[in-house]
Amino acid sequence: MTSTIPAISNGTLPPLSAGAQSVSQRIRKRLIDQDISFLANDNIAAFIQSGELDELEHEVADRVRELLRSLVIDIDNDHNTAETAERVARMYLREVFKGRYHHQPKVASFPNVKQLDEIYTVGPITVRSACSHHLVPIMGNCWIGIKPGDRVIGLSKFTRVADWVFSRPHIQEEAVMILADEIERLCAPQGLGIIIKAQHYCMKWRGVREPQTSMVNSVVRGDFRHDPSLKQEFFELVRQQEAMLST
Ligand SMILES: [Zn+2]
Repeated sequence: MTSTIPAISNGTLPPLSAGAQSVSQRIRKRLIDQDISFLANDNIAAFIQSGELDELEHEVADRVRELLRSLVIDIDNDHNTAETAERVARMYLREVFKGRYHHQPKVASFPNVKQLDEIYTVGPITVRSACSHHLVPIMGNCWIGIKPGDRVIGLSKFTRVADWVFSRPHIQEEAVMILADEIERLCAPQGLGIIIKAQHYCMKWRGVREPQTSMVNSVVRGDFRHDPSLKQEFFELVRQQEAMLST
């Protein structure tokens, strides 16, 4: 492996002028040189330099335009799709996958001065993501249960962090782990539980086309893992919250 430029899948990119690198190649090289993972659900904001996100948006728009041409859509004459490439590029980089390209929202933590150690839950928090396999939406709800440690964060901050984590291509099982890691990093709770219940459009819109199916998964850490009664209390609180909402 002596190549300095990462291989481009299937050679689909048009040739660049001699010596020039596209912005995605530059960013990718930076990541590979430093042995940094850049899987679909990784955040790479620290490796994108000032101004490069705008460049990336142009590059992605160019590639989406080629995708539309390959789908034999007459983007030169179809007023509906004439600017679709630009819209899709902006949507991926600035909205639905912003959790890959943008830094984590600022979240201040505070000392737990009253030494609160009762558990509380936050939810439902709406989560919006896309499956890594087909890039179609995953939409659902998330509940977070906390037994505080020495630091606490504001309730609204859980929503912001969840939105940032979920705004990447994901599989649900990994999304819940990544969110748990981030919350532990922010406030190191004594106990943490997360439940995600989501609808997967790759099962509703395509594939088996089963509109009612949803996927529920959870993670429990710390005291929630070691103490079955705490875990039970968390699940019960979530059940009550859900029941309250459905009445
Ligand atoms: Zn899928």
